[in-house]
Amino acid sequence: MTLEERIAAVKERIAAAAREVGRAPEEITLVAATKTQSSQTIRSAIAAGITACGENRVQEMTAHLDDDAYGSAALHFIGHLQTNKVKYVVGRVDLIESVDSLRLLEAVEAQGAKLGVVQDILLEVNVAGEASKSGISPLEAPELARLALEMPHVRLRGLMAIPPVAYEAGANRHFFHQMRELFVDIRQNVTDNVYDMDCLSMGMSGDFEDAVREGATLVRVGTALFGPRMSAAQDQEGKSWG
Ligand SMILES: *Cc1c(COP(=O)(O)O)cnc(C)c1O
Repeated sequence: MTLEERIAAVKERIAAAAREVGRAPEEITLVAATKTQSSQTIRSAIAAGITACGENRVQEMTAHLDDDAYGSAALHFIGHLQTNKVKYVVGRVDLIESVDSLRLLEAVEAQGAKLGVVQDILLEVNVAGEASKSGISPLEAPELARLALEMPHVRLRGLMAIPPVAYEAGANRHFFHQMRELFVDIRQNVTDNVYDMDCLSMGMSGDFEDAVREGATLVRVGTALFGPRMSAAQDQEGKSWG
């Protein structure tokens, strides 16, 4: 299959999963997870209908920005972000999906203030409580959301989660369900600006249909669009690659 055909196939699977549960396919945005891809591949994906790209690593993203690879597509940062690299991301991306600590939230606010911009963000929730992953616990999420809402240079748009790799169909559906409940709870009980809080980012190549069935508005898909990445080491959340 060509890249164009794979993109069309993933979009069709998203649409089918949405219709199954009575959702409109347009409610869901396919975010292409572009880590390790070249600027040329990114351009081809956008020409073939990708409207949003998610980058994990500051260095790769900066190189693609210098190449003007993203064109008119939205740009999301989805990897682990170190506070000392916030200056390369705030104001340059449409959405930081991976705000995973109070410290990072404060650093984004400070950089937003410095630049005079309001940065859209999601809070990353470690929904399965995995020690190896960053992200705030579901119990901490409402309090961090409350703090984010008080910050003038961040705009809380919702939540993001990376559950464990799903080895069989349905394996992560309960995590997605739990995320949806947390999202609704925060939207109703913490925020009064319900219209700003409209993003629930969950689902990857192995499980995006279940995520759509449980209410995802953003799915982040790499392998199913671009094929397998070169090595497992490249597949980490960007911890060693920054
Ligand atoms: C790589 C990555 C994805 C996409 O993973 P695939 O399994 O290749 O679809 C999604 N989200 C994040 C944060 C990633 O790092």
